[in-house]
Parts: sequence; C-alpha cells; structure tokens
Amino acid sequence: MSENTGTLAAKAAELDAADELAGRRGLFTLDDTVYLDGNSLGALPRHLPGRLHDVITREWGELRIRSWDESGWWTAPERIGDRIAPLVGAAAGQLVVGDSTSVNVFKAVVAATRLAPGGRDEILVDATTFPTDGYLAQSAARLTGHRIVAVAPADVPAALGPRTAAVLLNHVDFRTGRLHDLPGLTAAAHRVGAPVVWDLCHSAGALPVGLDEHGVDLAVGCTYKYLNGGPGSPAFLYVAERHQAAFDSPLPGWTSHADPFGMAAEYAPADGAVRGRTGTPDILSMLALEASLDVWDGVRIEAVRAKSLALTDFFLECVEAHVPAGRVESVTPSAHAERGSQVSLRCAEAEPVMRELIARGVVGDLRRPDVLRFGFTPLYVGFADAERAARVLAEVLAEIPAGEPGARDAVRVEA
Ligand SMILES: *Cc1c(COP(=O)(O)O)cnc(C)c1O
Repeated sequence: MSENTGTLAAKAAELDAADELAGRRGLFTLDDTVYLDGNSLGALPRHLPGRLHDVITREWGELRIRSWDESGWWTAPERIGDRIAPLVGAAAGQLVVGDSTSVNVFKAVVAATRLAPGGRDEILVDATTFPTDGYLAQSAARLTGHRIVAVAPADVPAALGPRTAAVLLNHVDFRTGRLHDLPGLTAAAHRVGAPVVWDLCHSAGALPVGLDEHGVDLAVGCTYKYLNGGPGSPAFLYVAERHQAAFDSPLPGWTSHADPFGMAAEYAPADGAVRGRTGTPDILSMLALEASLDVWDGVRIEAVRAKSLALTDFFLECVEAHVPAGRVESVTPSAHAERGSQVSLRCAEAEPVMRELIARGVVGDLRRPDVLRFGFTPLYVGFADAERAARVLAEVLAEIPAGEPGARDAVRVEA
C-alpha cells in the first residue's frame, strides 16, 4: 500500500464515521460493489419487495377492483406527487406522478406555449439537452407552429426576447454533471414574459431545487435515478399553483377530467395539478415508487447536498492522487455552485476502461465516445467507495495503455 493510499483510506474512514447519512445505506439491497450508477438506476430499497408483494397478492389478488378506492390507487398520482414535493422545494398540490419524463416534457412544453403571451414564435431549448427533451420539443414546436432555437444554457439570457414563447432547460447536464443556474435563468425568462420548463432528472433527490422559491413555472423529472423508484418508475410533472387554472394539457386524458366517472362527452379539466394526469395510472410501478420514498423520511435535502459535494470533492482528490497525470480529465465543474452529483472524466480509452472497472466491482457508466461517468448518491454511497473507485481506476489504467480505444459496442441501456 502506497503512502497515498493509506492516507486517503484513513481520511475516507474519518469522513464515513462523521457522515450523518451513513445509516441510510442499510435501507438498501447492496453488496460490496461500488455502485456509482444510481444517477441512472437507483438501488433497490430493502423493504420494497415486501410492500409490492402485498400490493400484488392482497390489493390486486384479493380486493381486486375495490382497491381503486379502498387501497387508494385512484389518488396515487397526486398523493405520491405530494411526497416528492418537499424534495424539490414545492408546496403540496403542485406535482402529479405518471407517464415517463419524455411524455411529461411534451405536455409541459406545449402547455408552456399555451401559457405564453400571444404572437410569439420561438421555443428556446438547451442545445446540450438530454436528447429526448430536444426530440419532443421539436415535435411540440411543429404541432404548435413555433420554431426551435437551440442555445447553450449560458447563452439563454442573450437569446431571450419578445419572440420567446417558452424555454426548456436541463437543471444538471447528464454528460458533464454541470449544474445550471435555475434561479437566474428562470428570472431572465420571466423578464421577457416567457414561462420556463425545467427538467430535474439529475437534480431531484440529489440537491435542493427550490421550485416554489425561484418561481419556476413547470418542471418534470425522473423517479428511477436519485429517487430509487425502480426501472421505468413513473415521472413527475410540476405545475406551479398560479398556472394551474390556465394549464391546458395537450394530452387531456379522462383521468384529468373534473368528473372522470361522469363519462361526459365534453372535456372539463380537473382543478389543480391533477389536470396534468393522462390515462389510468400504472399502479404497480407507482406503488413501488411510493414505497421507495420511505428511505427519505427524516432526510434533509441540504444534508444530501453537503454530502454529495464532499463525496465528489473527495473522489476528485483521490483521482488526482492515484491516477497518472494526463490519463483522465474532469469535465465536471470544480466550482460547487456549478456541480451536480456526478463526476465525468474524459478518457481516451473510456470504453475498455469502463468494461474493466465494472468487471472489478466499480460500476459507473459510459457516455460515448470518451466520458466515464460516476454518479454519487449520498443515501448509499460512502467515502470509502469513492477512494476504492479511484484506486481501481488507477489499476485499470495501468493495465490499459494510453491509445487503446477498443471501441466495442456497449449493450447496456442507460439514461
Ligand atoms: C434520464 C433522463 C430522461 C429520461 O426520460 P425517460 O422518458 O424516462 O426515458 C429525460 N431527460 C433527462 C434530462 C434525463 O436525464
């Protein structure tokens, strides 16, 4: 063991001992893998299989259709929305859960153009966005007669103007982990009268968002990343209270109706965030998500943020100490105010390196062609994990010489 390794391991042990969230790890099903992919698929909360077993055998198996009322299935989308609300800084009554983030991006972008002042023809979209947002905004623009203006988030203030109908931005860049200025960009859009849709996939459950405090108009986000809802668990849609009466969904399914069981031919939207619903809720995924949210009981999102920054700082320190100079370069901002909860390292040999890391029990992921991505989920990742990940990365790099791209296709699905 080198002196470096000993010192950093000792520092990790100290940091772990002082970590107020350390006890949360026991709530998850984990092994001795260093799991740094919770920003793509969160780990399984230990109690979840038991809860789902009850949903399937008793609520579905025995109560059958009675469960829509008696087990609270019908109101699950807004009830679970209210459970997520405090994690993203929203008062109750403004979030509904359902559909995928992709579908909710579509609803939110079209609805934003319908909230905007008339006579505007541009939708500003983050040019670095996660692709699905861009694709859906394109289609929304074609349907509503707008044109897309793609701009890097830093250039949004200069691109805003009297033609801006709506703005769609990612809070944290999925590739680089860069955190964008939600308060500042929201305020800038409001100065020209344009509503903003924020995509919170990489910030919900990772850092304070402050939706109400910063006057955000509409927001969407995933629940299977930092919120651990399970593969494909339903997304959320936030509609600020002040916009709810005018929120006009482009997908006004019957469950968003004011009286869904009236089965009326005429559409009349429900009050509140409920009008963001579409069809019958996917109860099994939804109730898995609801159960998974128990791991947040008593957790302050500020404590999560503090640990996340400490973890990513410490990982970068260990990479610096262990990895030979020049082999990797961080593309994640070093300033805390600009960093989400992941570290992305550019590495020319990223594909074979990530394959080998995974084989050695350090699971991150790859953003082709050359980004190694490591997500830090403070509820179950510790400082010893960060040290081990950096040490194994150095070992792998020592065995894979520089200049060996080995670009075989990765088969894993990641978001
Ligand atoms: C993960 C992610 C998505 C995923 O959308 P799905 O509809 O759940 O596939 C969308 N946007 C961003 C920014 C993401 O990070």
